[in-house]
Amino acid sequence: MTKEDAYSERGAAFFRSSSALVANAKAIMAHTGAKRLIAVIKADAYGHGATWAATTLAKQAAVHDFAVATVVEGEEVRSALPDDSYHIILLGVQNVALAARMANQHLEPAVGSLDWLLTARDNLVDSAATLRVHLAVDTGMGRMGAKSKAELSSMYQLVMADPHFELAGVFTHFATADDANQAYYDQQKADFLSVVQALGIDQKYWHLANSGSALLHHDEIPTETIRVGSVLYGYNPAYPAYESPIKLEPVGQFVGKIWGVHQLLAGEAVSYGATYVAKEDEWVGTVPVGYADGYRRTLSGMSVLINGQRQKILGRVTMDQVVVSLPGPVPINTDVTFIGQDGAERISVEELAEYGQTIPHEILTGIGRRIPRIDVK
Ligand SMILES: *Cc1c(COP(=O)(O)O)cnc(C)c1O
Repeated sequence: MTKEDAYSERGAAFFRSSSALVANAKAIMAHTGAKRLIAVIKADAYGHGATWAATTLAKQAAVHDFAVATVVEGEEVRSALPDDSYHIILLGVQNVALAARMANQHLEPAVGSLDWLLTARDNLVDSAATLRVHLAVDTGMGRMGAKSKAELSSMYQLVMADPHFELAGVFTHFATADDANQAYYDQQKADFLSVVQALGIDQKYWHLANSGSALLHHDEIPTETIRVGSVLYGYNPAYPAYESPIKLEPVGQFVGKIWGVHQLLAGEAVSYGATYVAKEDEWVGTVPVGYADGYRRTLSGMSVLINGQRQKILGRVTMDQVVVSLPGPVPINTDVTFIGQDGAERISVEELAEYGQTIPHEILTGIGRRIPRIDVK
């Protein structure tokens, strides 16, 4: 089936651009001076497709390090990469019962406590493979990690002394990297540096910078290795507080096709709750995309692009369909852009998220499995 067929068959598609992904990876490395990029491709690469993102970045941007959230995601990416020399980090809190499976698949978990390591060691006694680990330091995110120098020290000593483990990294995660008030950020940074320096952990192991840090604070923190997601996909996590200091190319475009065209007469209503009522006779189109596809219900009233012009979602977004305003009757199969460029107009995922009272990450990771992902250059 060709790409156009997949789009025609479903009446909707998510187009993803490999050249944009690669350009963003190169741009953020140049901006920060990073030598190593850990590409965060969790949640199916923020909805874009994890195996696609991994193979594209490995081949076209020489990326050697990837991060996902779970063992299952890690295994999927592992089987797509050419060999085991590519690193795959598991960022989230992990089930220690899977330690041997991680070691066998060369997955590198983030580790947040000494207890985790002690239990993992028991689970690894019969395993020939060593488990490479990234020690988490909790400096204020509150999800996982050592909270004191003493705790990190005991984890570090165990990993260095025990042949079942190998140190792969030590890291922290910023809670407010894209916030205008920098005090909390500065405290996290200072706490991290003070513990890793006190323990003499080599800087080559450190990774701190998420997208917000890499964009806005790269000259304040060590950025030899950066660990970024959102910027790779071409959006700015600090929007609207800050403009991106570098040009980011949006990787994804979310589009649908008008499959029905009809006229509403003055006084007729659209969708559940009959919240939209035509003031005069008007043309409308129906598109087979709804909140089950990730076009959220809070986007009722949002703009879409049709023939390079802004039109509106009329009434409530339903599970599988939306109704859009039209300037007049248009041909069946006319494209409707929910996210992306059409002519001179663009709807960014940042704009969509702001309208829908959420963040771009949630929009992109929510784009449903019913929507075919289609590769473009
Ligand atoms: C998701 C995540 C990232 C990537 O965050 P972005 O803001 O998308 O760059 C980095 N580190 C950790 C620990 C994460 O959970």
